Amino acid sequence: MKSLYDLDFPALQALLAGWGVPTYRARQVWEWLYVHLADSFDQMTNLPLPLREKLASGIGFALPSVAASQTSADGQTQKDLLRLSDGETVEAVLMRYDQRRTACISTQVGCAIGCAFCATGQAGFRRNLSAGEIVAQTLHFARHLKQENDRLTNVVLMGMGEPLLNYDASLEAVRRMVDPQGFRLGQRHITLSTVGIAPAIRRLADEEIQITLAVSLHAATDELRDTLVPINRRYPLSELFAACHHYGERTGRRISFEWALIDGINDTPQQAQALAARLVGLHAHVNLIPLNPTPAYAGQPPNADGVAAFAAQLERHHVSYTVRVRRGIEIQAGCGQLRQRKAEKGRP
Ligand code: SAH
Ligand code: SF4
Repeated sequence: MKSLYDLDFPALQALLAGWGVPTYRARQVWEWLYVHLADSFDQMTNLPLPLREKLASGIGFALPSVAASQTSADGQTQKDLLRLSDGETVEAVLMRYDQRRTACISTQVGCAIGCAFCATGQAGFRRNLSAGEIVAQTLHFARHLKQENDRLTNVVLMGMGEPLLNYDASLEAVRRMVDPQGFRLGQRHITLSTVGIAPAIRRLADEEIQITLAVSLHAATDELRDTLVPINRRYPLSELFAACHHYGERTGRRISFEWALIDGINDTPQQAQALAARLVGLHAHVNLIPLNPTPAYAGQPPNADGVAAFAAQLERHHVSYTVRVRRGIEIQAGCGQLRQRKAEKGRP
């Protein structure tokens, strides 16, 4: 069944109009959902009781329930395993860092791409999330923060799944989050991470939306990338970078490239040099993330010296980069890992 969060504003208007409800009520419901973050119809006190009852019986919130939760030792990172209405589960993470409150949310149950090092990929693909199920993860943390008189500042579509293989729902969710009459998140405060679906990057470039694009690169030669990120055989680096150039030109935005450092695999001077060559002429920034080890992949992160050595190579080639600390590694903040662990223990 569809949830309220699966309706865009015109669809909500149409639903209410079908019930003979005056159109201004749609705006009120919308504000309850996305401005006041209501999670029950009882809270919608300016709506007549019959309408609240009608909403309750006609369409629900389908709020995800928390099936498991972990908080990092410093209390700054919280990872929730959310159970959807059909029993499937996805992960969503809330990270607190300085003034930032970032939700990392999922777009699919599992993922079909099967990157060697990724826990989500190792578990396979189950289904796409609906736009409502994606938005609901953001609202889940927004509500949580509101109780602490705090607010969500950033959203990254970097949880489970490949957002550009669930394009329409992901885009719809992004538009919902930035709606100036709704949740009002700044477009620049949203990052969409993709494994590199070249045609979809071109399509995204033409959406006239100012979100940040992050491309999970991890290797700068086709030979190596084919082994780490299987979709590279379908969209090799030349095609991927042509799409990135198009994206940069159309949007004027800097593109982030994610690089999970794997000891002895992609932390070599040759890869650094190949990466620098690929980035020529692109407004780009590289995020170096020491690999988070997963059970089904033998690769390990380099030690601190190895990370520094690779970073120094990038510096030498004038590549702009940041070394990301894997925050919350102790709560298995790596993509798909809480779900993997839960499955190992057996779930109903
Ligand atoms: N499918 C999208 C978004 C979800 S994955 C994508 O691949 O971009 C989010 C990020 O986590 C990607 O950059 C992915 O490469 C990275 N990632 C997955 N498993 C990881 C691991 N074990 N260690 C470090 N980064 C990992
Ligand atoms: Fe899918 Fe991204 Fe994991 Fe690759 S890294 S398997 S694309 S979720």
